[in-house]
Amino acid sequence: MPYNEVMLIHYDSQYWSLKSVTPRLPKAGETIHGSKFFIGFGGKGANQCIQAARLGARTAMVCKVGEDSFGNNYIENFKNNDVCTDFVGQTAEAATGTASIIVNAEGQNAIVIVAGANLLLDSSDLAKASGAIHSARVMVCQLEINPQMSLEALKVAHNSGVKTIFNPAPAIADLEAEFYTHSDIFCCNESEAEILTGIAVTRLTDASKAGRALLDRGCHLVLVTLGGEGCVIVSKDDPTPKHVATNKVTAVDTTGAGDSFIGALAFYLAHYPHLSIEEMVKRSNCIASVSVQSAGTQTSFPYRKDLPQDIF
Ligand code: ATP
Repeated sequence: MPYNEVMLIHYDSQYWSLKSVTPRLPKAGETIHGSKFFIGFGGKGANQCIQAARLGARTAMVCKVGEDSFGNNYIENFKNNDVCTDFVGQTAEAATGTASIIVNAEGQNAIVIVAGANLLLDSSDLAKASGAIHSARVMVCQLEINPQMSLEALKVAHNSGVKTIFNPAPAIADLEAEFYTHSDIFCCNESEAEILTGIAVTRLTDASKAGRALLDRGCHLVLVTLGGEGCVIVSKDDPTPKHVATNKVTAVDTTGAGDSFIGALAFYLAHYPHLSIEEMVKRSNCIASVSVQSAGTQTSFPYRKDLPQDIF
């Protein structure tokens, strides 16, 4: 098996993000001129994987793209970021996933996501990656693919002693109980915590309350990320919730901050498993706070060489 024990597997989606800036959102049947067009790589699984790789983790992505130029270019993007693509499948049956975004002058947006090939990731793809999963140290799953496939992957990893991080995004209100019981770390943001628990998270105390409600469903440790407020940790090992503040910075674009945070957390869990969870979260906050200081998603994710060396 060519993979070493610190390998980190990300099992989820990748998307191309196509963004047009327009004075206003077009009406049905209308064609309008926009002022700018951006094209970028996205998808929660891919973003998290690339952040972990940029910190020095040996990562592999398990996902599916189309047999089209978007798919070919995404595979190239993984390779350029030193991500193993042995388990990136290509299919002629659907196009590579895309998110088409229109943003108006007020910053309001309209988004169409076509998951395409992402939804064709199936049990046979998981079986192909199972050897690598068993020898990995960490597995990270999200919900941008068929949720049953995420659950299957989470169970394969958890049952073989691989540490699992589950990011329930986009959130599903009636998430199956086994997602909780197979998550070593259950990491969500404020709005996901609210959808899952019904508790509106607007203050730190709400985050602790929502975290406890999630813990009661069977996961070992819950992290609720709170944007510029950092993160709350609620753990079975310690009944007192812990707030870990993030660095005070001037945010330019917070898109993908959660993915930068989770990619960093996965890196620490794989490479520095002896650190306390507070210390891992503190360092992951630091990395995500760098990502919000420049525009874009993957383009804003920092490399190890550009970060303070005392966090490694
Ligand atoms: P997104 O959906 O945009 O990817 P998210 O809602 O999943 O993000 P957040 O809770 O907004 O995730 O942010 C994740 C982490 O990023 C925070 O815990 C924090 O470490 C960092 N972060 C986000 N916003 C800021 C900010 N304004 N200043 C400093 N750090 C930030």
